[in-house]
Amino acid sequence: MVYDFHTHTSLSDGVLSPMELIKRALENNYKAVALTDHAAIGSLGRIIKETAEVCALARSYWNILAIPGIELTHVPAQAIAETAKKAKELGAWIVVVHGETIIEPVEKGTNLAALHSPHVDILAHPGLLSLEEAELAATTGIFLEISARKGHCLTNGYIASLAQQAGAKLLLSSDAHSEEDLLTTSLADAIMHGTGLDYAACHQVLSTNPQILIKDLPSHC
Ligand SMILES: [Zn+2]
Ligand SMILES: [Zn+2]
Repeated sequence: MVYDFHTHTSLSDGVLSPMELIKRALENNYKAVALTDHAAIGSLGRIIKETAEVCALARSYWNILAIPGIELTHVPAQAIAETAKKAKELGAWIVVVHGETIIEPVEKGTNLAALHSPHVDILAHPGLLSLEEAELAATTGIFLEISARKGHCLTNGYIASLAQQAGAKLLLSSDAHSEEDLLTTSLADAIMHGTGLDYAACHQVLSTNPQILIKDLPSHC
């Protein structure tokens, strides 16, 4: 079983249509996939509406939990809380924030702003995370991401170690932009093994933590 809460489609800079991405995920033995296209304030409504309709259709006919989400990308740090709130009001089940990675000039303060927002679920590729921020994630329950994505994945070992030290919860995401980026069980196992975490901690990330997130989604309330 594979869980993946961060992917992109043709609604932003991904290659596949939303429906094809879900179908490809199904073929890769996914149990759940979140569609989290890049958005800032102007495109939130359009992307969430279309994503929610496609996910609802897929859930009706296929055995996969297709989750409408959004990735807030390069939103000014001070506007993250209000934008995340708006995204949830518009129907996003999951809000991912594009974190302070080492490979892009994401505004300083983005990681901290995301971790302070009650409407954020996952801080993606937070490569420049501090121990204090990891401790805040442990307190708020916001998941920190281990990334399968080229470049973002360079800090996976560091993030895994900080999260373990702070007691913060981790999730593995593909951040897929095309079909070849999607996870498989063997790729997920290999990436987690590469973080240096032990078997029990990897199992927590790949199986227990996804179920904790799913349990709190709107459809399961
Ligand atoms: Zn991102
Ligand atoms: Zn992304």
